[in-house]
Amino acid sequence: MPIRPIRRFGDPILRRKARKIERVDKSLQPLIDDMIETMRAADGVGLAAPQIGVPWRLFVAEVDDKVYALVNPRVVKASKETETADEGCLSLPGLRGAVERPARVTVRGQNRRGKEQTIEAEGLLARCFQHEIDHLDGILYTDRMKPDAVLHPVDESDEDDEEIEAPA
Ligand code: ZN
Repeated sequence: MPIRPIRRFGDPILRRKARKIERVDKSLQPLIDDMIETMRAADGVGLAAPQIGVPWRLFVAEVDDKVYALVNPRVVKASKETETADEGCLSLPGLRGAVERPARVTVRGQNRRGKEQTIEAEGLLARCFQHEIDHLDGILYTDRMKPDAVLHPVDESDEDDEEIEAPA
């Protein structure tokens, strides 16, 4: 299971709309395993397939020790209530910025066995799911920052702060 190189900001694949996966079968499993391994190696909480150069609608995430792999995911419900928190992205290393998003979302998609799943998420998981689904539509978190919000570098003191979330 090799770790794949992560595409950086400026790579055109990060701006393309990813394609629907028509069949979830055995052939997809090594890709999902590689994505999980790559995400962990980079200390991320999520990774979307386009971030490793694969233009398909698939992401992995790991929040509260639970691993998710979602194929053709979509947000089917989002709360009116929003939360603003700093986000980072493995494709924009070393940076963070505040993004306002719905606080709770219901996400539907297939798991790695092709079974349809509906997941209600809040907190970091809700933020992570929205961030990853955005990647599948060529959207980066910086696109969602308010015009007056500032991208700032991650520094050592931030690393020790539990409130700072891992990049996705
Ligand atoms: Zn990201």
